Amino acid sequence: MARPVVAIVGRPNVGKSTIFNRIIGDRLAIVEDKPGVTRDRIYGTSEWNGKTFSIVDTGGIEIDAGDEIMRSVRAQAELAIDEADTIVFMVDGKAGLTHADEEVARLLFRSGKPVVVAVNKVDNPGRIDSIYEFYSLGFGDPIAISGSHGTGISDLLDRVVEALPEPSEEEYDDDVIRVALIGRPNVGKSSLVNAILGEERVIVSDVAGTTRDAIDTPFEKDGRKFVLIDTAGMRKRGKIYETTEKYSVLRSLKAIERSDVVLVLINAEEGIIEQDKHIAGYAHEAGKASVLVVNKWDAVEKDDKTMRQFELRIRDQFQFMSYAPIVFLSAKTKQRLHRLLPVVEHVAEQHAMRVQTHLLNDIVADAVAVNPPPTDKGKRLRINYATQVAVKPPTIVLFVNDPELMHFSYSRYLENKIREAFAFEGTPLRIIVRKKS
Ligand code: GDP
Ligand code: GDP
Repeated sequence: MARPVVAIVGRPNVGKSTIFNRIIGDRLAIVEDKPGVTRDRIYGTSEWNGKTFSIVDTGGIEIDAGDEIMRSVRAQAELAIDEADTIVFMVDGKAGLTHADEEVARLLFRSGKPVVVAVNKVDNPGRIDSIYEFYSLGFGDPIAISGSHGTGISDLLDRVVEALPEPSEEEYDDDVIRVALIGRPNVGKSSLVNAILGEERVIVSDVAGTTRDAIDTPFEKDGRKFVLIDTAGMRKRGKIYETTEKYSVLRSLKAIERSDVVLVLINAEEGIIEQDKHIAGYAHEAGKASVLVVNKWDAVEKDDKTMRQFELRIRDQFQFMSYAPIVFLSAKTKQRLHRLLPVVEHVAEQHAMRVQTHLLNDIVADAVAVNPPPTDKGKRLRINYATQVAVKPPTIVLFVNDPELMHFSYSRYLENKIREAFAFEGTPLRIIVRKKS
């Protein structure tokens, strides 16, 4: 199910990134503690009152709009209007209402999107009067907050989640494999879509699915149904913010949320950049199956070692996704293209795979016998029972004597043993540790 998107907009220095960080807290966890992946401070996910949403700090999306600050603030607001479900419009209670605020407000107002005004830097209750002038922006009651003290954030989140749309209904049957192609501009996403659709025996459906602003392309091959998610989004071009890499990440987040399998495109000519890893990291965190697709393979001068060397480099850079298969191909010449869909189908099956409880328990028991959990302050972890509780991604619950005793490295060891037995190729695994009741 696609998570709704919340965007924070406002002038520079009103405190957007401070509040953003307070909202996401340490929720960006999984990817950061792996080598080679730096924290991306622009996107995160959060949960409030049982609702999960993605949140983006548009102030962190540097838009090349010349020197003029107002132009880039305006572009950030346009981006929020285009991509977000709910907008947090942040203003500065210390500085008071400015012309720039009023201009942004006009843009937001015209969009008709739900807007919550957050008046930041209201650092003590005595300054609450400073919020009144912001009523004139026309978005109802402004919320007083302080990024420095962390006050008012819960009121703000109450209002934000109230304004979020209900999660959209699933539009496709369970047997349809939803595929997102992601990667930075010019990596060859549109070319690959066209190449896939032009393949032999691929039958493209007449009616394209539409969800709000996204246009999907359903097709069939050999009786298997697929849908390429948001193929229009990757063609839509021309807005001032669209050339920025961080924008392409935002666009990708929505496609990732709606997919089963994410094709992470890498440009063979240019190699791997940080942004590729950020997007892939998001697919991992979102629990999607992934395939690393090295495109433009035709443009690389090769000998018999080139592919292996490239593969090693990818494995080194994408350690957090060692489960993802790598496919080298050329969207342009269609070289090796026929290998792609079978891999997509395979990882989709693995993503939806269920293993029997007794088999899983045998594997866990063997793993524990070979390499018992280390003791911690004289206490030893005991695993009583393992069971798979969900698919997409496969989620395994381990019932133990004391969850505190489970360390990351031991959990990783068990994951490796489970993968040795059942593969789960192309999909992340979630391992949840619970106290045996
Ligand atoms: P952004 O440019 O909108 O992302 O703003 P930042 O989050 O970078 O904050 C700009 C400045 O305002 C920084 O020096 C922050 O420490 C400061 N700031 C943020 N929130 C508060 C607040 O609630 N009260 C005060 N007094 N300063 C704040
Ligand atoms: P997008 O921005 O990711 O959708 O990328 P496009 O599909 O528009 O491709 C960007 C450029 O790369 C275009 O000039 C394509 O012709 C070129 N391109 C795409 N795929 C390949 C490929 O496999 N090999 C080569 N040599 N060029 C390619």
